[in-house]
Amino acid sequence: MTIVEMNTTPSPNHPGAMFESAEEPMSRPDEGPVAPGPTPSALPVSVPPQPSNPPPPSSEKPNAGGSDKEEEDGVDFNRLKLRLRSRTGELMKDIEFDKPKLRLEIRDLHHAGTAKFLDAVNASTLLSRAVANVQRLLYHSPSDSTTYCPRTRSVTVILRDMGGVAYTTGTELDDDHKEIHFSLGYINGIQGPPERLADEINGVLTHELVHCYQWNAKGTCPGGLVEGIADWVRLRCGLSPPHWRQETTGEWDRGYQHTAYFLDYLEHRFGDGTVRRINEKLRLQKYDPKLFWTELLGRPVEQLWEDYASSVAERSKHYVDAGRERLQRMEILPETEESTT
Ligand SMILES: [Zn+2]
Repeated sequence: MTIVEMNTTPSPNHPGAMFESAEEPMSRPDEGPVAPGPTPSALPVSVPPQPSNPPPPSSEKPNAGGSDKEEEDGVDFNRLKLRLRSRTGELMKDIEFDKPKLRLEIRDLHHAGTAKFLDAVNASTLLSRAVANVQRLLYHSPSDSTTYCPRTRSVTVILRDMGGVAYTTGTELDDDHKEIHFSLGYINGIQGPPERLADEINGVLTHELVHCYQWNAKGTCPGGLVEGIADWVRLRCGLSPPHWRQETTGEWDRGYQHTAYFLDYLEHRFGDGTVRRINEKLRLQKYDPKLFWTELLGRPVEQLWEDYASSVAERSKHYVDAGRERLQRMEILPETEESTT
């Protein structure tokens, strides 16, 4: 077993930690974001969690606002400083989200998938960027008072020989520590040029990292929506694999890319931050299929799904018509009656 430590524990003086300590008035909910359990879907990304050894207990301490001296005196100067900073927009720019401790654990160095992984990506850079993307897309910025980014304290990516593709789970000791199990066999089987291999690894890990940070309506969120949000982030990061298609058959909560494209439609229709609002609502309350969408977007989800299907059909027709006109201009296709009137 090889364990590579890739990031440092957030410093007590880390601005993000300071901000959260000072500005977050809510007590921490009992239920943190939880990796979704197995879903009945045959879609490709997650497989049911399997028993695994939890990583050793972390020696990290929760982020504290100030030094021992300050606590002894009963005055937290860091918090005071942050309150001042939060009132000046310019200074807010350098405040960042808390970064989790990132670890890479390789359980089989001789597996062909291990060499492909190590050749294709710089895991340290990739994971740091992916975490930042997930935080930005789900929570915008630490100064955004409309969202609440959970303090995921560590993420351990475990490359091992297993079936399926990947899954995410909390540890038995503490749900703030997450494990992403990633199949070496799957990595070894990824076809295509090196960029495709890197994109697929990046895409799968980005999807799984969303599970480390998203809310799940206290365990009541439909699995399809959990998976859809994860693939929406992957989509927004430009990491959609070549086989993904916008499909409007079936239900809205088929999950994965089917739901991801639907969420992207909602993001365009109702404005930037719509998926963030969905995620925030999943933090605050249990999922009620009748009320959730009407309260948030003014319509039942079934109607939104129909609107989405119509929009996709209209756009497809537009592309077909435009393609036909182009071919007719090039005199490859004869002009139709309809096109001459
Ligand atoms: Zn997933």
